[in-house]
Amino acid sequence: MQRTLFEKIWDAHVVTQEPGSPAVLYIDLHLVHEVTSPQAFEGLRKRGIKVRRPDRTFATLDHGIPTYSRDLPIIDQMAAKQIAMMEQNAADNGIMLYGMKTGADKQGIVHVIGPELGLTQPGKTIVCGDSHTATHGAFGALGFGIGTSEVEMVLSTQCLLQRKPKTANVKISGTLQKGVTAKDIILGIIAKYGVGGGTGYVFEYTGEAIRKMNMEERMTVCNMSIEGGSRAGMIAPDDTTFEYLAGREFSPKGAYWDKAVAQWRTLPSDEGATYDAIFELDADTLAPMITYGTNPGMGMHITDRVPDPANIGDLSQRNALSKALNYMGLNAGEALLGKPIDVVFIGSCTNSRMSDLRQAADLIKGRKVSDKVRVMVVPGSAPIKKQAEREGLHEIFLAAGAEWREPGCSMCIAMNGDELSAGQYAVSTSNRNFEGRQGKGGRTFLASPLTAVASAITGVVTDARTLA
Ligand code: SF4
Repeated sequence: MQRTLFEKIWDAHVVTQEPGSPAVLYIDLHLVHEVTSPQAFEGLRKRGIKVRRPDRTFATLDHGIPTYSRDLPIIDQMAAKQIAMMEQNAADNGIMLYGMKTGADKQGIVHVIGPELGLTQPGKTIVCGDSHTATHGAFGALGFGIGTSEVEMVLSTQCLLQRKPKTANVKISGTLQKGVTAKDIILGIIAKYGVGGGTGYVFEYTGEAIRKMNMEERMTVCNMSIEGGSRAGMIAPDDTTFEYLAGREFSPKGAYWDKAVAQWRTLPSDEGATYDAIFELDADTLAPMITYGTNPGMGMHITDRVPDPANIGDLSQRNALSKALNYMGLNAGEALLGKPIDVVFIGSCTNSRMSDLRQAADLIKGRKVSDKVRVMVVPGSAPIKKQAEREGLHEIFLAAGAEWREPGCSMCIAMNGDELSAGQYAVSTSNRNFEGRQGKGGRTFLASPLTAVASAITGVVTDARTLA
């Protein structure tokens, strides 16, 4: 019987399942960070047990870690407490922590360091107490976010109770046009099908545009699957995947590598395998995307105008749009192009990798950012920061008037001192534009690194294609 990529991984990891009950799913890799793990470790402590598989559990500091110099004390006391607890919990349980004292040279955002270290591999089940674990699906893994009680379940048993989701084939046909990026593809899918469009499904992204992407672009697409409602996002592994993984710290070596690649080549969906739904997007007709509202589905081509709630038939959707526009301080029919902004944030697990930083540096090189805009560039990990500095990218950003920060989640989540003030507008390369996500009262336009840099230069929302 023909099976999809998802079904092959699912079948290989079901330990047992009673009829009508969730499956007991084996978890290959558990990624942990300082914010969603303290309660789970406390639960283990109360039960007098330790982490069952510390060798399959890896921790980092990302959400609360400050992005100013690590030599300075942590100002935010809540973040300082969570970081201290993560350090203690990792030490007590023999877990590798990429933090401030240990493994600092590999510290970074959890969804950046997993692939970077080669921990993320095709065919694996990967969980983390963070919604954007779908990022790891770019490697043909099944990665999804879990809640705090589930973190405790995986820490104690290395298994998870899960109901089997349905599958959707998300076909991205055509070729991306100049100035249009992987970020625009995923924002385009979510705008087309809505934040609930993928509920109950695991997305498998297929099609010409996906196959042409490098691994960093694929991670950007999979990263935001959860924003379209889906449980996970996956892309079948191919030579691009294997080239990325070859030689990484935790990738198999020697004969084990050859064996692993041979097995990974069996993972792509079989010819004729069926999906429960099909979603489609044509990359040829896609323009740079930007959001105007307070969920990632409220997005449009950057050249379009803000929609009018009066044109929406469904009452709850009409009310949701009215509320969003009110929060965002926008009017129906207004163009976003030319809208003054206060902050530009280039970072997050969506867009903080080398290709994002290189693309941003290429556009900003030899230019200055607007004196009305604060521009923060936050690499996704310590190795990315180091590599960018080797290439001189930090000098380009600094010469343009942007800030070059230490790695972490930074203004994506505003738990670390990096935040918007009430009423400020930001063009942000992150993945969530919820009310207050980037600071109480802050207003977020989600977009690609190209749009972010173009807007940083002009001080207003700008289509990067119009900059020579
Ligand atoms: S960068 Fe943002 S979305 Fe990604 S892990 Fe950090 S807080 Fe979560």
